[in-house]
Amino acid sequence: MTIVGVTKYVSNEAAATLLELGISDLGESRPQELWKKAAALPTTVRWHLIGHLQRNKIERTLPLVRLIHSVDSVRLLEAIDKEAIKQDRTIDVLIELNLSGESNKTGMPFDQLPGMQSMVLQKTRIAGFMTMAALQDAEGCRATFAQLRQLAWPGALLSMGMTNDFEVAIEEGATHIRLGSVLFDGISQDHMRI
Ligand SMILES: *Cc1c(COP(=O)(O)O)cnc(C)c1O
Repeated sequence: MTIVGVTKYVSNEAAATLLELGISDLGESRPQELWKKAAALPTTVRWHLIGHLQRNKIERTLPLVRLIHSVDSVRLLEAIDKEAIKQDRTIDVLIELNLSGESNKTGMPFDQLPGMQSMVLQKTRIAGFMTMAALQDAEGCRATFAQLRQLAWPGALLSMGMTNDFEVAIEEGATHIRLGSVLFDGISQDHMRI
């Protein structure tokens, strides 16, 4: 299981402390912030984009990331593949599914999944799924995570679980948990970006 240390709340310096703790998979939700941190931190970091990717930011983001967790439309997937072909680079992505309906606005509705899985891609590999559970009790999250696992195929990556629900996500088979606040709680205020 991989812990992705989410650095969106903190400075470059604070993000770098994760490397000393042995966490070298780092995640950012905004592409521009990922670009900035990737330029400032050692090249040994494996970067994960975990938030929305605008199509005009694909070109600059692709060379920097190990895994894009947040592919939420067919159009985006097509655009990523086109750019990957242009850059002659293979990229792994996860499809972000919205399994909790109205209460959670990000991710692709589940009924669009068949269309996406039948797409022919040349340089993009759909490696698994990502989801965010709605803010609710642990058992409510469990149902969402179990559903994601049941939709996936053997060997698929499952990016699920954040500070509030990672224990349940691990029990339900997460391969990647995305931890932000829990890693940086107690950090000095001058390192906080927000
Ligand atoms: C911010 C963020 C996280 C980390 O959230 P915490 O609750 O602080 O652990 C995880 N995943 C995504 C997509 C995020 O935007």
